[in-house]
Amino acid sequence: MSAEKWQSFFVRRFHEQNHTHGISLYIHLPFCESLCTYCGCNKKITTNHKVEEEYLLAIEKEWKIYRKLMRQTPVIRELHLGGGTPTFFSPLNLKRLMEVILKESIVHPQHEFSIEGHPNNTTSEHLKMLYTLGFRRISYGVQDNDPVVQQAIRFYLCEF
Ligand code: SF4
Repeated sequence: MSAEKWQSFFVRRFHEQNHTHGISLYIHLPFCESLCTYCGCNKKITTNHKVEEEYLLAIEKEWKIYRKLMRQTPVIRELHLGGGTPTFFSPLNLKRLMEVILKESIVHPQHEFSIEGHPNNTTSEHLKMLYTLGFRRISYGVQDNDPVVQQAIRFYLCEF
């Protein structure tokens, strides 16, 4: 699909939804510190947390492009942070991301904000920050509760 076609599709769908139901946003945060052997996700394995800054700048830039196309204030009803491992990002950087998205947006009174967590790096600081930002749902993609299987697939519940 060409960029022009994508933009006109986006503008049409945005205006169909925004004032009637509100819009749903999915934001992909692709980094993980280690690779689970079953993984089929779009991810980047790294322990270098400097990538957080670069990635946030790219999202801010992309969001500005969409905001320009919207030409009216977005009403955000659903927002999901997926990955990758969204909690690879620090609580402060997740706050910064949400501030960028919610600045000059309207949060729908029945909004649902959700996030994918990883038991090995989702801290209580993450959870407190996410709660403050309006998140009420977290999902953990635990594949099996058997520690032997967890070890085999490199997805441990050791700090859960
Ligand atoms: S945490 Fe998820 S995205 Fe990251 S490597 Fe494991 S399965 Fe893949």
